[in-house]
Amino acid sequence: DHIANQIAAGEVVERPASVVKELVENSIDAGSTKIEIQIEDGGLSLIQIRDNGEGMDEEDVEKAFYRHATSKLQRGNDLFRIKTLGFRGEALPSIAAVSRLKIKTSPNHDGKGLELHLQGGSVVNKQEIAYTKGTEITVRDLFFNTPARLKYMKSLQTELGHITDYVNRLSLAYPMIAFTLIHNGRLILRTAGDGQIRHVIGAIYGTSLAKNMVSFLNENTDFKISGLLSKPDITRANKNHISIFVNGRYIKHFALTQAIIDGYKTLLMVHRYPITTLHIELDPSLIDVNVHPAKLEVRFSKEQELLKFVETTVYQALHQESF
Ligand code: ADP
Ligand code: MG
Repeated sequence: DHIANQIAAGEVVERPASVVKELVENSIDAGSTKIEIQIEDGGLSLIQIRDNGEGMDEEDVEKAFYRHATSKLQRGNDLFRIKTLGFRGEALPSIAAVSRLKIKTSPNHDGKGLELHLQGGSVVNKQEIAYTKGTEITVRDLFFNTPARLKYMKSLQTELGHITDYVNRLSLAYPMIAFTLIHNGRLILRTAGDGQIRHVIGAIYGTSLAKNMVSFLNENTDFKISGLLSKPDITRANKNHISIFVNGRYIKHFALTQAIIDGYKTLLMVHRYPITTLHIELDPSLIDVNVHPAKLEVRFSKEQELLKFVETTVYQALHQESF
């Protein structure tokens, strides 16, 4: 089973950002309204996630570290129908297999919790502790027992960049959750959790930029789209600054990204990209999902219509504004 976990770990845990992704998604699934992320050295020495979610009792914790022990019963195809982000029950055992992991958790407010230490996937210590509702997971020395993987890591700055990108996106997808991201003691991101996307954008890109963004909302029988567009005079954006969410889930989609850029067509200088958040809501039956542990591929059965709708909406929203 150790071997199986290490193999699965190779697919689930590609780099520190994958650990952050899986742990934060678990915190979101647990109904947290506050999620604090502490990172050291690009995540290679330390990743710590603390949440105020539903926590786990003794039985839950022990199960959580077995493969395919998920409390969330659904299949890949149902991804866009369901409310939770996790579904495979692979993340915790995979992360534990390639790190030194500590978990503190409690399912209630009686002040009693549990602490477990795992090393390379095995429980090495377990004790009752004083802890209040929520969960804290600390991952140290990622890939300490898989040197080949460790060697493949890029610079700390690159790894931190992946983590920051991901946390930015989650905070845009979940404006109701207050996120904090700290790297080597320095505050990278803090969102209010007040439900306002514009405030999240302010926290990420600066409040003056956020105030200046153009909002849009458009709906037809198949799609509802909404979001915010930066004005074309913003110079520091790149393709990464376009974030697309489908029924609340972050996706990467080349053609949709291009549709947004096309909507800017007459306004955008060459080699510039807008800062954009696009939220698409549609019937899950119009989405075709191909799930691989490390990525999510999405196809739309009315893709051409959707692309045109997005491009036109972006174009109109920008042209209604006078610059
Ligand atoms: P999945 O998310 O696919 O169910 P994971 O390996 O990520 O699988 O997590 C296993 C289980 O551990 C989850 O189904 C959940 O019950 C529990 N769990 C993990 N993280 C948390 C958390 N932060 N708060 C509460 N429960 C959690
Ligand atoms: Mg999960």
